[in-house]
Amino acid sequence: MRAIWKGVSLTLLITTLLGITTILRVQETGAKESVKKRSMSNQSPRTNPSAAQPFGFAIHGGAGTILKSEMSPEMEAAYRAKLQEAVLAGYNILKDGGSSLDAVEAAIRLLEDSPLFNAGKGSVLNSAGAVEMDASIMDGKTLKAGAVTDIKRIKNPISLARLVMEQTTHVLLASDGAEAFAKEKGLEFMPPEYFITDRRIKELEREKEKERKKQQQQNTKPKQTSRETELVAPFEGKYGTVGAVALDKQGNLAAGTSTGGKSNKRVGRVGDSPIIGAGNYANNRTCAVSGTGDGEYFMRLLVAYDVSALMEYKGMSVEDAARTVVMEKLKSLGGGGGLIAIDRQGRITMPFNTPGMYRAYVAADGTPVVKIYQD
Ligand code: ASP
Repeated sequence: MRAIWKGVSLTLLITTLLGITTILRVQETGAKESVKKRSMSNQSPRTNPSAAQPFGFAIHGGAGTILKSEMSPEMEAAYRAKLQEAVLAGYNILKDGGSSLDAVEAAIRLLEDSPLFNAGKGSVLNSAGAVEMDASIMDGKTLKAGAVTDIKRIKNPISLARLVMEQTTHVLLASDGAEAFAKEKGLEFMPPEYFITDRRIKELEREKEKERKKQQQQNTKPKQTSRETELVAPFEGKYGTVGAVALDKQGNLAAGTSTGGKSNKRVGRVGDSPIIGAGNYANNRTCAVSGTGDGEYFMRLLVAYDVSALMEYKGMSVEDAARTVVMEKLKSLGGGGGLIAIDRQGRITMPFNTPGMYRAYVAADGTPVVKIYQD
């Protein structure tokens, strides 16, 4: 009898132990699952939801051969004032709890409306003397993105890019189709003359003259291979594209870029600005990036995505990743330009390998900081 009871108790004990082990295993799997789920979602992790969320905002107005010696005090003051106005506009939206997308769009609209920058009014002209604008925007929370290219009459291409992101199932709309969509959505149209400024007409004339001289020189010099020509090409552009990156109080990142492209570009040329991953990228897991510079190089290197990838796969900081891409990879390929980036802690970095880059951010104490040259 005793032996039977012993046997029964032993069986009970073993069953209980097995049950406990199974429960523990399930709980462990559950924990692992939720960790996996959390790290796969694009929301910034928030250990303490009541803790003050960092937020931050930065803009650029283009990189290139921007030299103090060539800038009049009036021009410099005008650039500084517009950059300050735009950076504060975006920052104040974030300060009041607004979204990173709203901040990016608002600041870029201001820069597009200013004739100083190469976006919207004041865009550079293509070889036929016309404006062809590109823009893109990306939401780091959802990885949704919208972009437009070859825009000729929309006052604010960045707003059209946002509508593509939010109200279509597409990412990139071009030319007439994009403008037809803008019309459907009631966006503001402007006649072609609105976008064209005297400054850009003169710039195009200078570019055409430079091209003629280069052509003459090339005809008299011994032939170089295209690879050699590419390697010795100096960074001559004054690009002037505009862009913004933001981190809002909800922990969401966003980036936007808007441009007229490159002066004297071929009709139909598309640069990096409307190409997601090249001139623009945002991902809540890493950072938001907006680029400016020699678009063809930005496309070949997927500059904006590369910054994010170095952070995600190599664990680099936003500063190290951005510096590696701009000062090493882009430069060694022969590409001139720069970028602005912000990470999910609100750290901002703005490297460029050209003499200057119009740029601005708001410091932690709320003071706007505007910079142009190598300082
Ligand atoms: N990245 C632009 C483009 O190549 C030019 C610029 O940044 O100003 O279209």
